[in-house]
Amino acid sequence: MAFISDRLARIKPSPTIAMTTRAADLRAQGRDIISLSAGEPDFDTPENIRDAAKAAIDAGHTRYTAVDGTPSLKRAIADKFARENGLDYAPAQITVGTGGKQILYNALMATLDDGDEVIVPAPYWVSYPDMVLLAGGTPVVVECDQASGFRLTPDALEAAITPRTKWLILNSPSNPSGAGYDRAQMAALCDVLLRHPQVWVLADDIYEHLVFDGFAFCTPAQVEPRLKDRVLTMNGVSKSYAMTGWRIGYGAGPEALIKAMAKLQSQSTSNPCSISQYAAEAALTGPQDYITDSRAVFQRRRDLVVAGLNACPGVDCPVPQGAFYVYPSIAGLIGLTSAGGTPIDSDEAFANALLDETGVAVVFGAAFGLSPHFRISYATSDAVLQDAMARIRRFCEGCN
Ligand code: PLP
Repeated sequence: MAFISDRLARIKPSPTIAMTTRAADLRAQGRDIISLSAGEPDFDTPENIRDAAKAAIDAGHTRYTAVDGTPSLKRAIADKFARENGLDYAPAQITVGTGGKQILYNALMATLDDGDEVIVPAPYWVSYPDMVLLAGGTPVVVECDQASGFRLTPDALEAAITPRTKWLILNSPSNPSGAGYDRAQMAALCDVLLRHPQVWVLADDIYEHLVFDGFAFCTPAQVEPRLKDRVLTMNGVSKSYAMTGWRIGYGAGPEALIKAMAKLQSQSTSNPCSISQYAAEAALTGPQDYITDSRAVFQRRRDLVVAGLNACPGVDCPVPQGAFYVYPSIAGLIGLTSAGGTPIDSDEAFANALLDETGVAVVFGAAFGLSPHFRISYATSDAVLQDAMARIRRFCEGCN
């Protein structure tokens, strides 16, 4: 009998964290490494939020709180949904966890029985399939290629639904592709879902505020109110307010689901950090300038990176609507050999050779379920991005 559980054997460690760690190891050995693999803003948390956290400590808000969030934070979240999304959620329909990640985990653990299916459009955020597997479910991966804008089509959704389908996970704008669904595209998916009452939607809106060129963000519960009682709308402060380390995410949905998720949290982590909850409340209720300021910076970097990549032979990079990632194709490099002698027979070989020969760390597409691609996170300075683009270009020019 193995000591480590079968349950754990179903999943693998996060490939994005593995790549970031490999880059850090090489840097520690003295190599000149540029890591474009981590998914977090490079800015400091805004000052008003940091001040709120300090004040919370001094006011003694350092004890256990209600398991899934303080009443005042839930109120601030309800107000946010009303103000920004036109969604009416009562505080009892809101749950707060240790990052959006815990909200997703709680939802899947609280609802999946063995063999239940979850539709996961690819390219996907690396944690979705593994969380589904951990909960005993079966991820049903639907490839959404570059030609379809990396978006799930209504026909592909219809074809993937079975009587065992419990959830569809929708992430707009997407990690890793940056693709966002506009209202018409979202409405078309909702129309399909209306015909299948057993299917719920997990809307991962964590990149809501990182949208460019005036793209209008929308979320399923808002686009199709008739679906609202089978949608979990998930969001958090990590990406919108440069608060990845504070670990606050939240979800809103039908009360029975929210209660089930809180029950799970009560027997696992209990409340998210009390100080972070006060900081998150300040983020949601305070000045929102950071959002517009950072959006402008990210849009400039996106343009820099898209232009830089499209200047590389063999690389084809579409322009994403949001998030801080691009997901270019390297179909034009497959079958070639790098200057250092590595056959580029997969996107994993490409990413490894790129790191070894140029010191640029990216994450290969197979990790996100759609090849041959790679993901760049452009949440770093223009100077670093320019250096990275020049290195990637030299690498691609050296392939033959
Ligand atoms: N969802 C997506 C698509 C993400 O990229 C991330 C973080 O990388 C998360 C959810 C979780 O974010 P957090 O747990 O920091 O709120």
